Amino acid sequence: MVAIKNSPITVNNYIAGKWVPASNNETYTRENPANTEEIVSISPKSTEEDANKAVEAAHEAFQTWSKISPINRGKYLYRFAELLESEKNEVAELLTKEQGKPLSESLGEVNKTISEVRFTAGEASRLSGDTLPSERENVSIRTVRVPKGVIAAISPWNFPLVTPLRKIAPALVSGNTVVFKPASITVAMGAKIVELFEKAGLPEGVLNLIIGSGRSVGNQIVNHPKVQGITFTGSTGVGSNIYEQASKRLIQVQLEMGGKNAAIIYDCPDIKNAIDQIVPAAFAATGQRCTSISRIIVNENDIDQVVAALKQKTDAYVIGDGLDKQTTLGPLVSQEQLETTQKYVQIGLEEGATLVTGGKASAQEKQGYFHEPTIFTDVKPDARIAKEEIFGPVLVVLTASSFNEALDICNDTEYGLAASCFTQNKSYQDLFVSQVQAGMLHVNNGTVSESHAPFGGLKHSAIGPYSIGSTAKDFFTDLKVVYDAN
Ligand code: NAD
Repeated sequence: MVAIKNSPITVNNYIAGKWVPASNNETYTRENPANTEEIVSISPKSTEEDANKAVEAAHEAFQTWSKISPINRGKYLYRFAELLESEKNEVAELLTKEQGKPLSESLGEVNKTISEVRFTAGEASRLSGDTLPSERENVSIRTVRVPKGVIAAISPWNFPLVTPLRKIAPALVSGNTVVFKPASITVAMGAKIVELFEKAGLPEGVLNLIIGSGRSVGNQIVNHPKVQGITFTGSTGVGSNIYEQASKRLIQVQLEMGGKNAAIIYDCPDIKNAIDQIVPAAFAATGQRCTSISRIIVNENDIDQVVAALKQKTDAYVIGDGLDKQTTLGPLVSQEQLETTQKYVQIGLEEGATLVTGGKASAQEKQGYFHEPTIFTDVKPDARIAKEEIFGPVLVVLTASSFNEALDICNDTEYGLAASCFTQNKSYQDLFVSQVQAGMLHVNNGTVSESHAPFGGLKHSAIGPYSIGSTAKDFFTDLKVVYDAN
């Protein structure tokens, strides 16, 4: 039973319907990022052989699961959503304890997951094909969607509940079976997901959990000949490596990767409203969201007003353990993320940027990976802090002397995930939508996505069909074209 009252929680792999340790009996321990002396979980450091077993179990289960009607497969998702709803407070607490984000954000993630899973369950009855006219009188043409087979679902640690479900739910409803590898620091949530599917009665082998390092078990499932599709969310470096491996086997990938998302403020009469939306979009999950706003590009005439409003709102954050009610900014997820943030703050100072607020790791009563929300101004467009993904609570402000220059700065990055533009000027709004190279565009609102709309990016932020929404089936099914002559 994955519950924080039993902490440290011992979690295992789940293969062919059984909870099993790693074959070498080696384990990882995971600390609470808000209190590093507390161990949250103990989990298996699995081997490549364990990964092979998980793929074999999924391959065997595919033979029967793929033949069940999609509507009946969807019923397991509805049941999962019901169970998650009944345990939502406990799941949110576990999420906060393991990942660090404030409880209100964890509850938000649980609620989003419930609505996405319900939406995807409903997709079961929309797995339709097309009918087409034929050039021949006695022929009709139709398309049908068929499942791919075993899907490898590899996820990161920043949204350890909703991201895996964005992979597992559409894979299952489409008739695939799954080998799920969560990030090795958020394994308790990975096991909780599987436990809820087990409670929902999912047949054995349909969903398998393998816990271990990306380099060993992740790489093993990516290269396993019985894996027919890889859905991955994580860094662009790892994603491009997976793309290279998958291309050798000519299998399809869905890669959701990094971002360096900008918010443009130009010809915007209500700057306070813009800042009220940008700041939470920058610092939710302590800046560890792929869609975090990490750059603001502002009309140079408005810079003083923007920086003053930004500082005021940012300084109101209360840093602390996410389980404390007053906390609005939790710790970073790990020592590594804390060090990366500190490294980029140092780079910003060396690049000559001006520190407006923050900039330091933050001391707390209990030792954790805390860092102040940080803002730099006087940032040059080619500075590393303006171009590279930091994935921490660091927001940089750049100026532009025309809207076209703002668009150029916005596009001057390898990434293309999300962007916002705050303006009342209709022609600027149109230019933003047509010129900005990003998958998700927000006019006069922050980078907040919804549960039924496609989610994805351009450039080095994503490859393959967008997840959720109507596009998910383009990855999770293959298309057959049938010519019937009667
Ligand atoms: P990561 O790339 O280090 O790891 C992601 C997952 O891949 C983990 O489960 C990891 O164990 C696994 N992995 C690592 N090496 C592997 C390999 N060689 N083969 C197979 N699997 C391997 O990313 P992270 O640090 O966990 O997450 C942060 C990154 O994720 C950021 O860059 C962020 O922007 C990105 N992200 C993107 C989205 C999106 O939807 N675009 C959403 C969330 C996070």
